[in-house]
Amino acid sequence: MKEFYTNINKKVYYITMLVLIAIMIMGLFIGNPRMGEHGAGFILHVVLIVILSVCLLLYPRYVTRVFRMIIMIVASVYFYTLFFLYPDTGSTFIFLCFIPIISILFFDAKLFYFSLVLNSVSIMFTFSYIVLVSQGYYFIKQDLIGNVINFIGSQVIIYFVFYLSYGRLKKQLLYYEQIKQTERLKISGQLAAAVAHEIRNPLTVVKGFLELYEKDTSVSDDIKRHYSLMIGELNSAEYVISQLLSVAKPNKDQEMETVNVKNVLQSVTDLLHSYGLLHDNNIDLNVTEECFIAANTIEFKQLLINIIKNAMEASEIGDSVKITADMKNDFVEIKVIDYGHGMSEAEVGSLGTPFYSLKSKGTGLGMMICYNIAEKYKGTIDVQSSKGKGTTVTIRFPSKNNTIWSKGNSYIKK
Ligand code: ADP
Ligand code: MG
Repeated sequence: MKEFYTNINKKVYYITMLVLIAIMIMGLFIGNPRMGEHGAGFILHVVLIVILSVCLLLYPRYVTRVFRMIIMIVASVYFYTLFFLYPDTGSTFIFLCFIPIISILFFDAKLFYFSLVLNSVSIMFTFSYIVLVSQGYYFIKQDLIGNVINFIGSQVIIYFVFYLSYGRLKKQLLYYEQIKQTERLKISGQLAAAVAHEIRNPLTVVKGFLELYEKDTSVSDDIKRHYSLMIGELNSAEYVISQLLSVAKPNKDQEMETVNVKNVLQSVTDLLHSYGLLHDNNIDLNVTEECFIAANTIEFKQLLINIIKNAMEASEIGDSVKITADMKNDFVEIKVIDYGHGMSEAEVGSLGTPFYSLKSKGTGLGMMICYNIAEKYKGTIDVQSSKGKGTTVTIRFPSKNNTIWSKGNSYIKK
């Protein structure tokens, strides 16, 4: 598809250039006052047309900044030569005003600014020459100030055109890159899900047999130790696979409930306390008021577990992780604060990228799942971290405080 467009663009480019070259040749031979002279001026005109034509036709083969710069300079020299060779042709002044437009065609910002400055300096010298030395150019001399103002005006307009079109093009390129990245992620996600699904079944069978052998009394304890090690490894493989599947195939029809944030936080911290004991970290939970959000409880728990687990894993032995939940305007704001090793700005930027992990046994899927869940329920996750000092993860979900979930599966307005 891309090649198709490039071919079309190349075709348009060559046709346009051939038309331009034809116009330049027409200017050279039709009604040219210097044609009969065959003097140095006419020869210079011919040479410049040849050089410029060759450069323009060769450009698609050498798309480099140096080559663009060469075209720019040759074109400037060509237009200024026309201006000086044919002092009676007032319209060549228009070309001098238009010179920076050439770099807009190339979409090269640096070249544009370079040509804008070069052109302004050249026009200053040209006008000085006209006023101080030259006998001709009455159309400029008669209203010098007016011509200078017109020139400045034309450069401002060109700058404005460049600024708008360049900004739009950059945005489009960025958008195109994002679409490409999303498409790539989608395809790799589907592929990973398909592979994960196929791997899960044989894994379950192998694990089942190992568990069976582990209970076999005829097997020696030494070998049994190997079995439990193998089961442990299979468990982590299963965990990775289930995480992968939940990213690639997010369950669309998860039931929305009104979730009591305080209760969920309490149960999650209870669950993670046992994990924390292994790491010797304390969880310091501080929720003052009852807050409610609309989400699926299991998914919300998964989000909290991932983030709190990360905080505990980043913390030093003995340090505690602080969790707070408050109402902020129409949002429930949960903060998970740790005083662990923290992250650099680049590391924070990479959070949520699939398989990005700095842990030897990390899956690098935890934060991606969290971002997906938050996005699904119109929530946000904001990470602030400083290397060596700690991390604060702020989770915001739209509050659902005016409705309370009753046991009869219906909402009661407060
Ligand atoms: P995993 O925990 O499997 O490595 P995650 O997506 O949960 O994957 O996290 C990705 C990486 O981000 C982690 O490996 C870790 O380096 C970094 N990270 C996440 N949370 C924190 C935190 N609270 N403090 C420091 N680093 C963190
Ligand atoms: Mg994690």
